[in-house]
Amino acid sequence: MSTRKGGSVAPRPPGSPSPSDTTEPQGLLIGGSWVRTDRTFDVTNAFDGERVATISAATADHVTAAVSAADASLALDFPLHARYDVLMRAADRIEASQDEYAWAIAREGSKTIREARREPPRAASILRQSAEEGRRLHGETLPFDSRAGSENRVGYYFRFPIGVIAAITPFNDPLAVLAHKVGPAIATGNAVVLKPASATPLSALRFARDLMASGLPDGRLNVVTGSGSELGDALVSDPRVRMVTFTGGVRTGEHIARTAGLKKLSMELGSNSPVIVMPDADLDRAVPAIASGAFAQAGQNCLGVQRILIHDRVYDAFARRLADHVAGLTAGSSMDERVDVCAMISAAQATRVESWVQQAVELGARILAGGKREGAVVWPTIVEHVPRGARLDCDEVYGPVVVLARVSSLDEAIDRANAVNYGLHAAIFTASLADAFTAVQRLMVGAVIVNDSTDYRLDVMPFGGTKSSGIGREGIQFACAEMTQTRVVCFNLQK
Ligand code: NAP
Repeated sequence: MSTRKGGSVAPRPPGSPSPSDTTEPQGLLIGGSWVRTDRTFDVTNAFDGERVATISAATADHVTAAVSAADASLALDFPLHARYDVLMRAADRIEASQDEYAWAIAREGSKTIREARREPPRAASILRQSAEEGRRLHGETLPFDSRAGSENRVGYYFRFPIGVIAAITPFNDPLAVLAHKVGPAIATGNAVVLKPASATPLSALRFARDLMASGLPDGRLNVVTGSGSELGDALVSDPRVRMVTFTGGVRTGEHIARTAGLKKLSMELGSNSPVIVMPDADLDRAVPAIASGAFAQAGQNCLGVQRILIHDRVYDAFARRLADHVAGLTAGSSMDERVDVCAMISAAQATRVESWVQQAVELGARILAGGKREGAVVWPTIVEHVPRGARLDCDEVYGPVVVLARVSSLDEAIDRANAVNYGLHAAIFTASLADAFTAVQRLMVGAVIVNDSTDYRLDVMPFGGTKSSGIGREGIQFACAEMTQTRVVCFNLQK
């Protein structure tokens, strides 16, 4: 395990943000205008502390103005074909400047430059698929004559937009997560007020600029940047906001649910995903897949592997091979092309993760690899003998740390996998169809991945969790359905 500073560093592409860059929008987007405020906040790189940009901080009044602009925009016609064209053009624009996006994501957020390069093409694809899905959204005729007395009635239902949607996004996939909310919302005719994470507003502002330049009518997308704890209540409690789509931590989600009142909620929250390794697992395949699932994005991934439940018969071999694999990973700056595990989003988060590892060790756990922190960098860490009830066992660590646990049967593995208050993804490595199917039937999660890590998502699959991992499902088709409501039309044809 090594750390690198300098070396093969990704160059700043022309057009990428810098503290002196005046072309990058740094203000709020309200009703089609970029609004600068007196109050600002700095976006900094967690590895080297460099200021990446200075951004306007909204007040509750700006939030109210953004909701008013969104609400007003709904009165103006914006038909499906025009929405389709805007989303398609925006996707092209994102692809055309993908280097600048990737650079911004790696500088502002917590992804290596290699990880960050995967986000812009994915966001573009999400917008295109949203545009297509908008075309497929339809209703159907209803069999009114199925009830005696209704023979003279004919009718149908169709779907219409919910209205104003508040979208609140986290830092970890700063572009793809907002594309998953804004794409379906625009495709289905809604207006959005977006509040991106304060750590990663640059990619959101660039995304908004690209949508506006693609012909999005004023007010259909508004962006308010600033502290979620200051702005959140004004946004989610506004009665004109008819849906809140939130991705983030469980505690924030609970607060939003309490504050929002009676409106539609979509909650994509956290997890501490389990992976089961059975004796017949192909370890050549399992070890790199699990390591990638655990340590990509410095472990800050809602689908990240946290708990590895390994059958006794392969425990020692698996643990040894995973530790060997981790020894070959490189930690350091997100901008270094050779780095596998970059700094966490802040030194404070890295310190928290370190303290959770320390707590486990004090309770009897043993560190097999890593266990070291320098500033915001936490070395990929493997811990075993973590007692039940330690934070590493039952909470979401959201950092580059995995816990190994020995199990003696599939039943025991499934029981342990389910014994937490989360349920987003779970995975099993096995050659047995029967064992795989048992896991599919019994794991209480939103997805079971067979022979890959929990960190797998296709953007069109229904995505979401059980228990505290969330409410509702994203995934383009599912988000489009959630962001519309049905209206029944019934003609009484009686003469
Ligand atoms: P977070 O602290 O909950 O923040 C998420 C967003 O909520 C940010 O924009 C934040 O703004 C805002 N916020 C904070 N307090 C708020 C309030 N009182 N009202 C309204 N908004 C508020 O989460 P995070 O640290 O960015 O992200 C980590 C969490 O997200 C993890 O638990 C992870 O598992 C989860 N996540 C889930 C999924 C999924 O799809 N299931 C995907 C990615 C991440 P500020 O940044 O200004 O505080």
